Amino acid sequence: MHELSITQQVVDQIVEKLGDVRVRRVRLEVGQLSGIVPDAMAFCFELVTAGTGLEGAELDFDRPAGSARCRACGDEFGTAEVLPLCGCGSADVEVTGGSGLRIRGVEVDQACAPPADARTTQG
Ligand SMILES: [Zn+2]
Repeated sequence: MHELSITQQVVDQIVEKLGDVRVRRVRLEVGQLSGIVPDAMAFCFELVTAGTGLEGAELDFDRPAGSARCRACGDEFGTAEVLPLCGCGSADVEVTGGSGLRIRGVEVDQACAPPADARTTQG
């Protein structure tokens, strides 16, 4: 599965950078032209984070739309195609956005997690 190795790399990067902390939420930017299926990635995320500080973390996806620029006429346009065509008929088009995967942010638990039976006082 394509998403499994990608997700593994993302998780590895976070663990490498943050070390042994509890991660609450991971925000990813997955471009609409990236070919990555967020649902599949979320599924893989649960698998590869088991036993790590990221276990149980929520995964948020930003899905930036694709954009492209025509090398023939210089036009810039939004696209949902991996191989877009320009309105001028040219296929000499450079994809300029929405094709990548990026880690946008990670939320961690600052304090140590309280034991499950800890009582919290409201107000
Ligand atoms: Zn064009």
